[in-house]
Amino acid sequence: MGETADTSSVVVAREIEFSLSEDAASHCGVEQERPELYFCADLSGYGWCFRKENYLNVGLGRLDSAQLPARLNAFLEFLRREKRVSRVPESRWRGHAYAVRQGPTRHIAGEGFVLVGDAAGLAASASGEGILPAVLSGRLAAEAILISRMADYPRRLEERLGPRGSARRLPDRIADVLGAALLAIPGFARRLVLDRWFLHRSG
Ligand SMILES: Cc1cc2nc3c(=O)[nH]c(=O)nc-3n(C[C@H](O)[C@H](O)[C@H](O)COP(=O)(O)OP(=O)(O)OC[C@H]3O[C@@H](n4cnc5c(N)ncnc54)[C@H](O)[C@@H]3O)c2cc1C
Repeated sequence: MGETADTSSVVVAREIEFSLSEDAASHCGVEQERPELYFCADLSGYGWCFRKENYLNVGLGRLDSAQLPARLNAFLEFLRREKRVSRVPESRWRGHAYAVRQGPTRHIAGEGFVLVGDAAGLAASASGEGILPAVLSGRLAAEAILISRMADYPRRLEERLGPRGSARRLPDRIADVLGAALLAIPGFARRLVLDRWFLHRSG
């Protein structure tokens, strides 16, 4: 129903959640109150380590499935080297994929159907945040159904979510060099990546 085959707008992720032994928990560098995010140099994805008491959730997602295995291995190596995590199990990894809101628009409502959330490809392209757009689109879709004005739904959604992201990508090497240079600028990760992309703060 969404009518798009554009795979450049799909986030692919691998993730694992595992329990820490008492010894591993006491040596784990990741703190309960401080989720850790690590951005890929090309800014096309990020890895994370979240502590949930004696459980750890580790993963990496990006807008480029071809590089996911290599980037994930490099990330795990980095976590070991930096002593954030000593051992990550090799099995029980889970894979995920979902479309983000960039590139060609999907056909999200029509005769007898309406798409919301991931089905409509609404997650933010920079952060992968999809819960808020899923809740918002569910609500707007319900309102449109109640007043029998389905044609309004796509427009009202665009108004609430703002402009779509661009699906254009730089060549891999250039993206790596440029992204690494930007991330090295003091305040860049804080002000643009975290404040703007993740926390939606402006100014
Ligand atoms: C690893 C990972 C981490 C993420 N972290 C965040 C985050 O921190 N913040 C954030 O905002 N977003 C995050 N996202 C994105 C977010 O999870 C999704 O965008 C969001 O859950 C989409 O909501 P949804 O209701 O559209 O789909 P879903 O949450 O996938 O819900 C769809 C539901 O439909 C059920 N279902 C499927 N098929 C059928 C069927 N045939 N019959 C009945 N039920 C069915 C599924 O079991 C599921 O429960 C993350 C995604 C991943 C993969």
